[in-house]
This record gives sequence, structure tokens and C-alpha cells, in this order.
Amino acid sequence: MTFIVDTTLGKLAKWLRILGYDTVYWRADDPEGILQRARDEGRTLVTKDTKLYKGKGSLEALLIREDNPFRQLREVVRHFRIPVNKGMLFARCLACNAPLEAIDPEEAKGGVPDHIYHTHQKFSRCPSCRKVYWAGTHYGHMTRVVERLQKEPS
Ligand SMILES: [Zn+2]
Repeated sequence: MTFIVDTTLGKLAKWLRILGYDTVYWRADDPEGILQRARDEGRTLVTKDTKLYKGKGSLEALLIREDNPFRQLREVVRHFRIPVNKGMLFARCLACNAPLEAIDPEEAKGGVPDHIYHTHQKFSRCPSCRKVYWAGTHYGHMTRVVERLQKEPS
């Protein structure tokens, strides 16, 4: 399942990418544009904008009601019953949505702070923006969010 998320939901877009879901974050104020892109690429529209939601036609879409990003994420997960697990974390670049590639620690050298290079073994890189990812402190936070999503009854 792939998503397109409008400008009101930047944090949610990031979280969907963290969970490994292909998510376009649409920042322009262009309702026709976002609907067209969703149709062209077969993406599910996720929005907080009632007017935009009403214009969805036959598109698959979800109108988000919550304000808190965790609750918004839970709304999406519950509504579409999409799988969530720790193995899916860090599959996608949070900045540009491209699938990450695993790289050797040697290749990460220079791209990450020295202490990170010396204390971590697993690295991934975005082929598009070259950002290097590793299982650092954010990873702990993200795995706890996944655990919360899995624990709470749907
Ligand atoms: Zn990137």
C-alpha cells in the first residue's frame, strides 16, 4: 500500500516512511495536483482537509481526525489494517522516500560522526540524497512506537 499525504500532516508522512511505507508528502497548495498524483500513481490519499477529502471521487482516502501524530498514525494503521513490525523500520529515506540500501561500515566512514562509525556495524544509505542511516538513539524510540501500535487493540 502506498500513500500520498497532504501538507497538514508532515509528521505523519515521516512516520509512514519510518514504518517503511512508500509515502509522498505533498507540500503545495494545489488540491487538483494532489488528487491527480494520487490517481496517476494509485496512492491512497491521507488528509486532514475536509474539502480535499470531499473531492476524492473514487480514490481510496482517509480523513484524519486526530491532532497528535501518534494517534494519527494509529488511525491509518487501524483503518487500513496495514502490518506494522520492527523489521520494516529503516527501509526508506525519511527525507526523500527512496528505498535505502545497506552499505558496508567502510562506506559509511566520513558520512557519519566518528563515534558513530566506531560504535555501530549496520549502516544504510539513501541512493538519492546520500544520507546515511544507522540504528542509533532514534531507533530505540521508533521501536517503542511500533510496540505501542502492536499492543493496543485494533
Ligand atoms: Zn534521501
